[in-house]
Amino acid sequence: MRTRDNGRAQLCEKVLFWSKRLRVEARIIRVQRMTQKWGSCSTTGTITLAEDLIEQEPGFQDFVIAHELLHLRLPTHGRLFRALMSLHLPNWRTFDVARQRPRSGNNSTNPAREAEQMPRSVIRPVTSRAGVTSKA
Ligand SMILES: [Zn+2]
Repeated sequence: MRTRDNGRAQLCEKVLFWSKRLRVEARIIRVQRMTQKWGSCSTTGTITLAEDLIEQEPGFQDFVIAHELLHLRLPTHGRLFRALMSLHLPNWRTFDVARQRPRSGNNSTNPAREAEQMPRSVIRPVTSRAGVTSKA
Protein backbone atom coordinates (compact mmCIF):
# COMPACT_ATOMS: atom_id res chain seq x y z
CA MET A 1 0.00 0.00 0.00
CA ARG A 2 1.32 3.34 -0.98
CA THR A 3 0.09 5.37 1.97
CA ARG A 4 1.64 2.89 4.34
CA ASP A 5 5.01 3.13 2.60
CA ASN A 6 4.79 6.88 2.79
CA GLY A 7 4.04 6.54 6.45
CA ARG A 8 7.13 4.42 6.98
CA ALA A 9 9.27 6.90 5.12
CA GLN A 10 7.88 9.71 7.20
CA LEU A 11 8.63 7.85 10.41
CA CYS A 12 12.20 7.24 9.27
CA GLU A 13 12.58 10.91 8.40
CA LYS A 14 11.40 11.82 11.84
CA VAL A 15 13.95 9.46 13.36
CA LEU A 16 16.71 11.13 11.37
CA PHE A 17 15.46 14.57 12.35
CA TRP A 18 15.42 13.66 16.03
CA SER A 19 18.77 11.90 15.85
CA LYS A 20 20.35 15.15 14.76
CA ARG A 21 18.46 17.18 17.26
CA LEU A 22 19.29 14.92 20.18
CA ARG A 23 22.79 14.25 18.84
CA VAL A 24 22.49 10.50 18.92
CA GLU A 25 23.03 8.00 16.18
CA ALA A 26 20.38 5.50 15.26
CA ARG A 27 22.21 2.90 13.26
CA ILE A 28 19.25 0.85 12.17
CA ILE A 29 15.64 1.95 11.99
CA ARG A 30 13.01 -0.72 11.87
CA VAL A 31 9.26 -0.39 11.53
CA GLN A 32 7.47 -3.56 12.38
CA ARG A 33 4.44 -5.02 14.05
CA MET A 34 4.68 -4.61 17.79
CA THR A 35 2.00 -5.57 20.23
CA GLN A 36 3.33 -4.42 23.57
CA LYS A 37 4.96 -1.10 22.93
CA TRP A 38 5.15 1.73 20.47
CA GLY A 39 8.88 1.57 20.20
CA SER A 40 12.08 0.18 21.59
CA CYS A 41 15.76 0.76 21.31
CA SER A 42 18.74 -1.51 21.71
CA THR A 43 22.13 -0.66 23.09
CA THR A 44 23.57 -1.32 19.65
CA GLY A 45 21.64 1.59 18.18
CA THR A 46 18.67 -0.13 16.63
CA ILE A 47 15.44 1.78 16.92
CA THR A 48 12.30 -0.26 16.42
CA LEU A 49 8.96 1.43 15.95
CA ALA A 50 5.50 -0.07 15.93
CA GLU A 51 3.97 -0.26 12.48
CA ASP A 52 0.72 1.30 13.60
CA LEU A 53 2.55 4.32 14.96
CA ILE A 54 2.12 5.50 11.35
CA GLU A 55 -1.55 6.08 12.05
CA GLN A 56 -1.00 8.09 15.20
CA GLU A 57 -0.88 11.86 15.40
CA PRO A 58 2.47 13.48 14.53
CA GLY A 59 2.98 14.83 18.03
CA PHE A 60 2.76 11.37 19.49
CA GLN A 61 5.12 10.02 16.83
CA ASP A 62 7.66 12.66 17.81
CA PHE A 63 7.26 11.74 21.42
CA VAL A 64 7.82 8.02 20.89
CA ILE A 65 10.77 8.58 18.57
CA ALA A 66 12.48 11.14 20.78
CA HIS A 67 11.93 8.91 23.78
CA GLU A 68 13.54 5.88 22.18
CA LEU A 69 16.41 7.88 20.72
CA LEU A 70 17.11 9.42 24.07
CA HIS A 71 17.62 5.92 25.42
CA LEU A 72 20.72 5.70 23.25
CA ARG A 73 22.19 8.26 25.61
CA LEU A 74 20.35 7.50 28.81
CA PRO A 75 19.19 3.99 29.63
CA THR A 76 16.75 4.97 32.34
CA HIS A 77 14.02 7.55 32.78
CA GLY A 78 15.93 9.50 35.36
CA ARG A 79 15.81 13.18 36.07
CA LEU A 80 18.10 14.07 33.18
CA PHE A 81 16.05 11.96 30.79
CA ARG A 82 12.89 13.78 31.77
CA ALA A 83 14.60 17.16 31.66
CA LEU A 84 15.73 16.53 28.09
CA MET A 85 12.28 15.39 27.09
CA SER A 86 10.83 18.59 28.54
CA LEU A 87 13.42 20.62 26.72
CA HIS A 88 12.61 19.19 23.31
CA LEU A 89 8.98 18.25 23.76
CA PRO A 90 7.49 20.50 26.42
CA ASN A 91 4.16 18.68 26.41
CA TRP A 92 5.56 15.15 26.41
CA ARG A 93 3.80 14.27 29.64
CA THR A 94 0.43 14.39 27.98
CA PHE A 95 1.59 11.66 25.62
CA ASP A 96 3.23 9.59 28.28
CA VAL A 97 -0.15 8.44 29.50
CA ALA A 98 -0.93 6.99 26.09
CA ARG A 99 2.45 5.39 25.64
CA GLN A 100 1.88 2.20 27.55
CA ARG A 101 -0.57 0.47 25.34
CA PRO A 102 -3.08 -1.65 27.18
CA ARG A 103 -3.07 -5.05 25.61
CA SER A 104 -4.87 -8.07 26.88
CA GLY A 105 -2.75 -10.62 25.06
CA ASN A 106 -0.32 -13.07 26.50
CA ASN A 107 2.95 -11.38 27.33
CA SER A 108 4.71 -14.00 29.37
CA THR A 109 7.95 -13.77 27.46
CA ASN A 110 8.85 -10.17 27.08
CA PRO A 111 12.59 -9.65 27.43
CA ALA A 112 12.53 -6.23 25.79
CA ARG A 113 10.64 -4.50 28.54
CA GLU A 114 13.61 -3.54 30.75
CA ALA A 115 13.84 0.20 30.68
CA GLU A 116 10.17 0.69 29.98
CA GLN A 117 9.25 -0.45 33.46
CA MET A 118 8.90 3.06 34.67
CA PRO A 119 7.43 3.51 38.11
CA ARG A 120 4.15 5.18 37.34
CA SER A 121 4.33 7.28 40.45
CA VAL A 122 7.24 9.22 39.03
CA ILE A 123 5.26 10.65 36.17
CA ARG A 124 1.81 11.86 36.93
CA PRO A 125 -0.83 12.74 34.40
CA VAL A 126 -1.10 16.47 33.83
CA THR A 127 -4.66 16.47 35.02
CA SER A 128 -4.04 17.37 38.61
CA ARG A 129 -6.65 19.15 40.61
CA ALA A 130 -4.34 22.02 41.42
CA GLY A 131 -5.92 25.27 40.43
CA VAL A 132 -9.48 24.25 41.04
CA THR A 133 -9.52 26.09 44.30
CA SER A 134 -7.44 28.99 43.04
CA LYS A 135 -10.46 31.25 42.78
CA ALA A 136 -11.04 32.67 46.20
ZN1 LIG B 1 11.77 4.39 27.83
